[in-house]
Amino acid sequence: MLTNADIAELIALRRDLHRQPELSGREIRTAARMAALMRDLGADRVLTGIGGTGVVAGFRGAAPGPQVMFRAELDALPIPEAAGPDHRSTTEGVAHLCGHDGHMTGLVGLGRLLSRQRPVRGTVWLLFQPAEENGAGAAAMLADPALPAFDYGFAIHNFPGLAQGRALLAPGPVNCASVGMRTRLTGATAHASEPEKARTPTLALTEILPALLALPQGSQSDADFRLVTLTHLSMGEPAFGITPGTADIWVTLRTQRDDAMTALRADAEAIVTDAATRHGLGAAFDWQDAFAASVNHPEATALLAGAAEGTGIAVQTEGLPMRASEDFGRFGACAKTAMILLGAGIDQPPLHAENYDFPDALIAPSVRLFHRLARDLNG
Ligand SMILES: [Zn+2]
Ligand SMILES: [Zn+2]
Repeated sequence: MLTNADIAELIALRRDLHRQPELSGREIRTAARMAALMRDLGADRVLTGIGGTGVVAGFRGAAPGPQVMFRAELDALPIPEAAGPDHRSTTEGVAHLCGHDGHMTGLVGLGRLLSRQRPVRGTVWLLFQPAEENGAGAAAMLADPALPAFDYGFAIHNFPGLAQGRALLAPGPVNCASVGMRTRLTGATAHASEPEKARTPTLALTEILPALLALPQGSQSDADFRLVTLTHLSMGEPAFGITPGTADIWVTLRTQRDDAMTALRADAEAIVTDAATRHGLGAAFDWQDAFAASVNHPEATALLAGAAEGTGIAVQTEGLPMRASEDFGRFGACAKTAMILLGAGIDQPPLHAENYDFPDALIAPSVRLFHRLARDLNG
């Protein structure tokens, strides 16, 4: 069991991680720190540099049994943190505003308990993944041949807006798929007094924008849900003497399912290509930040629900999937996976808000939940 000293030390660790955030794919110090903590705890294997900066630590039982993975994220966000806590970020413009500092701390707490009493069978793996926020990290770890094989994978995400002591968990979609579509329209400039000599994207934009914005349908609980968010738009230069020759359109596409995303991508691309062709413009596409849908496996979900019940967490099933994406879903391709959304409190600011701070009160329940699951599966 966690002692009061454990909890105090874990809170101090969480706040120290909060002070030292690192951006996606550049989590060098954070990853080294997690690896050192795992070695200090006497993990049987500590793998580093997996898919970039990823770290995986294994605590092995004497008997054969399941390979069970628990996942946390190493990265912070490129957002300046609001003035506030003593443990405020010391890196300008970068902050842990998604609670990944708390998720890492929960895994360290689990490691402490496993170091005192090894699992009976199989292996419990603590996985610290890079680059969750841009959707690149889980895929990079999975592409690394050094990554061990897992039978089960579990993750917690803290969830502001839901009371502490409660959680969202259900089989099926838990996070939507999303992708960023960057489009550049290219024509030719001319003097502002002679727009007829330019090939300018103005009229194409007046057709493309309403057509893209007409694509959304349904709510995220519908299988055919589609959301299109215009996130950035620019045309030409900020000047009065030039008829512009280029425009950039950035939109984020979301769907509940991966196959629906394939169709939405095709529809969005066709809208842009058709308008560009009619107006004599070139259209180039660049797809970024692709997240697969996260889908909870029924068996993994039932195991997680049992552990939640056993540790006094009240689970509700309505309200899923979240519109926001999570790259934990990638691990579902190689293991039975489930993610639970742990209530961070009704009055908390939303994730990615400049004043979000993972509540320390969630550390102990996170550790107890994962430890219960590890005991259930690995003894
Ligand atoms: Zn986030
Ligand atoms: Zn997050």
